[in-house]
Amino acid sequence: MSKYNYFRQGFLCPDEEQRLLTNQFYDNAFEIYARFDDWKDDDRFYFIPLYMRMTYSVHGMVLEMAPDPVWMGSFVRCSLEHPELFQITCPRCKRKVFPYHCVGSPLSGRVDLEYGCKCGKKGYVVVSGWQIRADALRDQLEIDKARNFEFMKDNLGGDHTADIDELMSFLWKGGIPQCR
Ligand SMILES: [Zn+2]
Repeated sequence: MSKYNYFRQGFLCPDEEQRLLTNQFYDNAFEIYARFDDWKDDDRFYFIPLYMRMTYSVHGMVLEMAPDPVWMGSFVRCSLEHPELFQITCPRCKRKVFPYHCVGSPLSGRVDLEYGCKCGKKGYVVVSGWQIRADALRDQLEIDKARNFEFMKDNLGGDHTADIDELMSFLWKGGIPQCR
């Protein structure tokens, strides 16, 4: 048994802006992963809230890998630190890629790792091991709670996080130039 309760505790329906932000993460995930070291220390980026709806419904109950919102930094760090669970080899160009979304069934254990590669290939890879991935992500979210608490404390009443547009322009302007 897991120490986590997978049953959905509440229900947060993302608004249009939150949905858009999450879609922008999906679209830019390859670069966001590749440049993790450039943005991971900036709380404004690390705690961008993603509404990923990693849910599974059965008999009127909803189970989820992790409750929304999931912090972008936690999600990306978790994947990078557990390549044995999350790394995928692009079938077209053989690059190593990480998923921008995971969804699956805790009953069968099936997980779809959805990815978009730099070469343009998009798709998903089916693996087994729902719970081990859910636990890895929840462990990372637990670890990051203390850091988030400090961040929130320093930003009381403000709009804390940046959005993906700001992150991308930060990466292209302020980050380390990349060879294209
Ligand atoms: Zn590829």
